[in-house]
Amino acid sequence: MTFVVTESCIRCKYTDCVDVCPVDAFREGPNFLVIDPDDCIDCAVCVPECPVSAIYAEEDVPNDQRDFTPLNAELARVWKPITRTKPALPDADTWSTVQDKRDQLER
Ligand code: SF4
Ligand code: SF4
Repeated sequence: MTFVVTESCIRCKYTDCVDVCPVDAFREGPNFLVIDPDDCIDCAVCVPECPVSAIYAEEDVPNDQRDFTPLNAELARVWKPITRTKPALPDADTWSTVQDKRDQLER
């Protein structure tokens, strides 16, 4: 199993989740983070850190977010690790409440 970052993270990237991960499983893209399923040890400590509740255990990913499971795996192969929290994107608070924003994802 792994944990999965879903749509709420797009254009927010608060990165609060990154500091607590014991195995540095997060990978960073231009406006989204993913979790590398090969590194995640299923500890769940990142889940309550996310202010927009974007992180789910693979088995609990909502039906309308299931495409993010393979997407995390795909992007984790090409994006670089992020191991420290950094400032959120400038308009993160505006985008944090937007529900439908897959088209905003930059690769
Ligand atoms: S804390 Fe949530 S919104 Fe922020 S980078 Fe992590 S998953 Fe994305
Ligand atoms: S569940 Fe644990 S190991 Fe997996 S990404 Fe979150 S903090 Fe890291």
